[in-house]
Amino acid sequence: MPFDLHTHSNISDGTEPPATVVRAAARAGLSGLALTDHDSTAGWAEAADQAVASGIVLIPGMEVSCVSDTGISVHLLSYLHDPHDPDLSAEIERSRSSRLTRAQRMVGRLAEDFPITWDHVLRHSTPDATIGRPHIADALVSLGVVEDRSAAFTSILTPRSKYYVGHYAPDPVDAVRLVLAAGGVPVFAHPMASMRGRVVGTELFREMIDAGLAGVEADHRDNPDDARRWLRVLARQHGMFVTGSSDYHGAGKPNRIGEHTTDAAVVQQIIERGTGTEVIYP
Ligand code: AMP
Ligand code: FE
Ligand code: FE
Ligand code: ZN
Repeated sequence: MPFDLHTHSNISDGTEPPATVVRAAARAGLSGLALTDHDSTAGWAEAADQAVASGIVLIPGMEVSCVSDTGISVHLLSYLHDPHDPDLSAEIERSRSSRLTRAQRMVGRLAEDFPITWDHVLRHSTPDATIGRPHIADALVSLGVVEDRSAAFTSILTPRSKYYVGHYAPDPVDAVRLVLAAGGVPVFAHPMASMRGRVVGTELFREMIDAGLAGVEADHRDNPDDARRWLRVLARQHGMFVTGSSDYHGAGKPNRIGEHTTDAAVVQQIIERGTGTEVIYP
């Protein structure tokens, strides 16, 4: 009874509406999925309706963008938190609004060398979407500046590029606490994705575990094989569970829905621990 616990819709940087993501999960033969858009829960309602229609389970989730005090980007998956929790919502709102001004500043810098405007970026995102570099990448692709999103990320959109601007995001340890306080279950997304940039060291990892990290996403295409083994050992040592997921982004990434999945026993643990919102059963 496999579940895919990490997927994105066009509420953030996936390319398909939430209902289409749910249908793709059902078509792939999954028993259930979690919709985990970046810093948004706006897709939950549409996904829930489609999950019932498609006869699969929906675990409402979100992927919280975090930045450590040393500038390392950390993605924290939250399952079943209360979307109206004031403390978590305030941090997410702060991060989302910083993302918007950051993207506008990046487009301002890019416009000095390429024919890109803010309007192009808006054309590649849905209203109120969590705006990120993928939307800027899509605009650059349509302008013929780069071949695809991946090419954009390895060239003009890398953090080392002169066009790059950072944005406010909560500290990863604070985020673990906020998710727990909102009744959610915090899971470290692709912890060892070294191809994306620097990854956290043992000290910060340890602080997140001490703060109540519940699980680690070991089976993810961005974690190298040896890192996956190390993550399993770490999980066993600290009483955390291990998840596997695709990080599906529709056409925005090569990741196929259901390419990695999570055991039913782990899904059950998440369902038992998450108290902030209801699981959607068909
Ligand atoms: P941002 O949060 O705006 O800094 O952008 C990071 C987002 O870009 C992540 O959520 C990833 O899903 C996406 N991303 C990172 N690398 C790639 C890539 N090579 N191709 C497509 N999307 C990517
Ligand atoms: Fe993404
Ligand atoms: Fe992520
Ligand atoms: Zn993701």
